[in-house]
Parts: sequence; C-alpha cells; structure tokens
Amino acid sequence: MAKKDYYEVLGVERSADEKEIKRAYKKLAMKYHPDRTQGNKELEEKFKEIQEAYEILSDKQKRANYDQYGHAAFEQGGFGAGGFSGADFGDIFGDMFGDIFGGGRGRQRVVRGDDLRYDLEISLEEAVRGTTKDIQINTLAHCDTCDGSGAEKGSKVETCPTCHGAGRVRRQQGFFVTEQVCPTCHGSGKKIENPCKTCHGDGRVHKKKNLSVKIPAGVDTGNQLRLSGEGAAGEHGAPNGDLYVVVHVREHHIFERDGNNLYCEVPISFTMAALGGEIEVPTLDGRVKLKIPAETQTGKLFRMRGKGVTSTRSGYAGDLICRIIVETPVRLSEEQKELLRKLEESLEGSSNKPKSSSFFDGVKNFFDNLGK
Ligand SMILES: [Zn+2]
Ligand SMILES: [Zn+2]
Repeated sequence: MAKKDYYEVLGVERSADEKEIKRAYKKLAMKYHPDRTQGNKELEEKFKEIQEAYEILSDKQKRANYDQYGHAAFEQGGFGAGGFSGADFGDIFGDMFGDIFGGGRGRQRVVRGDDLRYDLEISLEEAVRGTTKDIQINTLAHCDTCDGSGAEKGSKVETCPTCHGAGRVRRQQGFFVTEQVCPTCHGSGKKIENPCKTCHGDGRVHKKKNLSVKIPAGVDTGNQLRLSGEGAAGEHGAPNGDLYVVVHVREHHIFERDGNNLYCEVPISFTMAALGGEIEVPTLDGRVKLKIPAETQTGKLFRMRGKGVTSTRSGYAGDLICRIIVETPVRLSEEQKELLRKLEESLEGSSNKPKSSSFFDGVKNFFDNLGK
C-alpha cells in the first residue's frame, strides 16, 4: 500500500513551522485518539498515520530526510505496523488532556505506562477460523511490595520540592521558556523518603506475564488487536499502557490468500482436460467435488463461492479460486509415445487446436505486416 504524504496526513503546508505542525497534530490526535474511536479499526489506522507523520515532521533531522528522500528515507527504519515510540507522545498527550480537562499548570501529570507490541505468527487455518493463543510478554508490572507507590512501608511520601508536585520544571533560556521533566523526581512529582527495596522507588518491576489472546476469525497479516491495559505499568502506580498484538499469517503450502479470496492450483491430466471429468479439490473445510468440463484449457479459473475467508469486518465470505494446470505426462513408455504420435497425426485439422491456430495465424499476420 502506498504511503500517504506526511504533510497531507497532517493537513499542513510543506513550509509549516514546528508550531503549526504541533497544532495540526494535536487537533487530529484528539479527534482520532483510540480512547475516543472505540475500537473502530479504520480510525485506528488513521490515528497511526497521524502519529507516524507527526513523529517524522516534528523531528528536524527526520523531517529534513523526509523532504529530501520521501518515505524511502525510513523504509529500513521499521515503523512497521506499530510505530509507537516513546516520550514525545506521552508529553503531548499530557499537554493535551491537561488542556481538555482543565487540569491547568500546577496539576500533577500522570504518565501512563508504555504501549507494548507483540508479533504473533499464526497459521492460515487459525486465521480463517479464529483461535486462542497463549503468549508470554516481558513487561513492567506494578510492584506488589509497595503496591506501586515506590515507597517502603511506613515511609513518608512528600511532594517534590523542586517542581512542587508538577513533575515538570520551566526554565528560562535566553528569550525562551522551556518545560522539562523534573530532574529531581523524574516526573512523578513525589519525593520518597525510603524507596521500596524491591523496585528501587519506581513502583514497578520487570516481569514475564502470560496472556491468553483471542484471535477473531478472518484476521490477516498486519491486523492489530489492542489489549487495553495489558501494556507496561506506569511509574508510581500510574495506569498501564496497552498491548498491541500484531498478526502475521504464515504462508500455506496449498492456498494463497488475497484479501478474503483463497487461490490454489489444481493439476489435471490432459486426457481429463480434453474429455472432462470430476476431481476433488481441497477447501479449508475439507474436500469438495469440482466438475471439469470437456475441452478445459490450462490456466482456466473455477470459482467456488463462499469457500474463502469470512471477513471479520463485514461477515462476507470470499471465494476459493482454483486454477487448472494441465499436466504434461512424464516417463512415457515406447508404447505410450506411439499412442501419442498416432493421436497427434489424427489432430491435423486446426479446429482441434484453438489456441495454436489463433496463435500461428497471429504470427503469420505479424510477419506479413512487417513485409509491407
Ligand atoms: Zn519534581
Ligand atoms: Zn516497590
């Protein structure tokens, strides 16, 4: 799929300055944030596009590369289907929701835990029918010893004296006022007298977590499942991020998938191709009979309605399309070769060979026209 132009995604001019880009991004991100679009896949995709565009255009170096080389500049970089990177988004959402909910400047910022990505490989059969998979993720979980607070039992937790609980400090640098994460409390806004020994005051610990993921029927490579709250825990008891499970469907030895349609190649003997007959073809629900009419040519497609994949979104079932391959026999005995020679002699008339006759007529016309 061709990627959209990042400037178009954000709806800004190529000459837009940092402020204009940030403003455009905030507006769009608010509109399309997954918390507001309630699992609508299309809007989620749109949100990801917006995030990706902002990540590039808000970074001077990346923007310069993009202006010069376009999307090719990042092809190896691996945004992949995820593209959820770090702190910048946390910052901007901190700002944003602060603005929306009227938190104002002095309000303490709650930074959600990171979103995580898990790449899950499944077979075509599993993708078609749906399945449940047990996965293990490495994540940060709330520390049980201190219940996420980061403080030893009985220890006092005070407001950070540097930022007075805001988690951020403002600095004057020449004409500019910049805002930074507070260096004393690293954004938590708290000062812990005796940090918890288990988590060293962070409120979270590294942990392997086992999860059971339900994969709906009809998923395809690149589809993402969002498991709300299954991402990393936030610092000091802040809420968890989300886990995105990205689906990869393995190649199948018989079927090739294109959207909701399945394709497979079916070899038949040339006798059957000429005389017609009946064969069994595989489908994902077992074998079905397929009638081959007489005079079937190689490459002919037979469509079996509804034997493809049922879409998760529309509930509409795709088709199974069988492509006939007429097989040339091998390791013939002398007797068999003789029979074929006799057959060939009897096929002198061009009416028996529809493709060859039209092909050679075409060739003759081609050379005749060249001579003119
Ligand atoms: Zn502080
Ligand atoms: Zn702890």
